[in-house]
Amino acid sequence: MIPFNKPYLTGKETQYIEQSVSSGKISGNGQFTQKCQQFFEQKYGFKKCLLTTSCTDALEMAAILCNIQPEDEVIIPSYTFVSTALAFVRQGAKIIFADSQNNHPNIDAEQIESLITPKTKVIVPVHYAGMACDMDKIMSLAEKYNLLVVEDAAQAIDSYYKNKPLGSIGHLAAFSFHETKNIISGEGGMLTINDDRFIHRAEIIWEKGTNRAEFFRGEVNKYGWVDVGSSFLPSEIVAAFLWAQLENLDDIQKKRKEIWNNYYKGLKPLADKGYFQLPNIPEYATNNAHMFYLVCNSLENRSKLIAHLKENDILAVFHYLSLHNSEFYKNKHDGRILKNCVNFEDCLVRLPLFYELNKESVCNIINTIKI
Ligand SMILES: *Cc1c(COP(=O)(O)O)cnc(C)c1O
Repeated sequence: MIPFNKPYLTGKETQYIEQSVSSGKISGNGQFTQKCQQFFEQKYGFKKCLLTTSCTDALEMAAILCNIQPEDEVIIPSYTFVSTALAFVRQGAKIIFADSQNNHPNIDAEQIESLITPKTKVIVPVHYAGMACDMDKIMSLAEKYNLLVVEDAAQAIDSYYKNKPLGSIGHLAAFSFHETKNIISGEGGMLTINDDRFIHRAEIIWEKGTNRAEFFRGEVNKYGWVDVGSSFLPSEIVAAFLWAQLENLDDIQKKRKEIWNNYYKGLKPLADKGYFQLPNIPEYATNNAHMFYLVCNSLENRSKLIAHLKENDILAVFHYLSLHNSEFYKNKHDGRILKNCVNFEDCLVRLPLFYELNKESVCNIINTIKI
């Protein structure tokens, strides 16, 4: 059976974990945490990075930092993972779901302005498959209406919008290191803070509402309870694992892009004949090879393709169920029909993509799709 995903280990993970264990410091915000955060700040120019135990946690921190009050409105694409919306719902926000573009699962930036009201506070673009949303458009709306932008960059590590790293454009951004992402630590995530106004408070929220981080830098002589927060920081064991992955970031990305390009080349003739659509990379975006997906012509065709691959021991999977139609939110949604989102819900299928997927397997998958 070719699985959909297989977490890749670089080989140094357990060595670094042992190192952190024998150093006697295994709680959070130690040496490996600092190394990982500095790596991101230096490589991508994020102003401040804080590792978290998941991307969901990073989104929750972002929602607290945005100072969401009950009834505030947050604009989010409906075609996304639950956490994108959940983090803001927990702070009492009302979610205004936006549709996808007709040729890409990303939020249709052209529709956002019509959803803005005096209650709107935040826009949350999700860079689906690591491909950028139209950030110039979104940032200019944010400026015009005085809104905040939180990038859900869970899938978007090492990807760019017009040469700007994703995660560096919005006021805040959230990344994931869940085992299904390009760079992993089992569960894990990171908040990036690009607006100085939020840096001080972010550290406090991260450390259970205390000014502990300042205390350890010697900036205050005692620490105590100063704000809301939670235990958002991961242990050094998680950070040590992540460091082994970051050392191999370039190699991992190179390998994933090779696989992605082989899929694209191999499937292009079928796409040209109209059997399905290949991923459409916007001209302002790069591809970080987080995911290889096809968009079938109907739900029926997609079901047939998934079943056919399964009969041949290949696991392909569909993706999000529209959040505006979810059991939890459908009664709260304003009834607008989001047809592009529903189209991706019905027709999008993801093919296996992981570091150890060899060329023969990719050929085998392509040939199986051809039959
Ligand atoms: C994976 C993912 C998340 C959640 O990440 P966790 O680290 O599992 O909390 C959120 N949003 C998107 C778009 C994702 O792909």
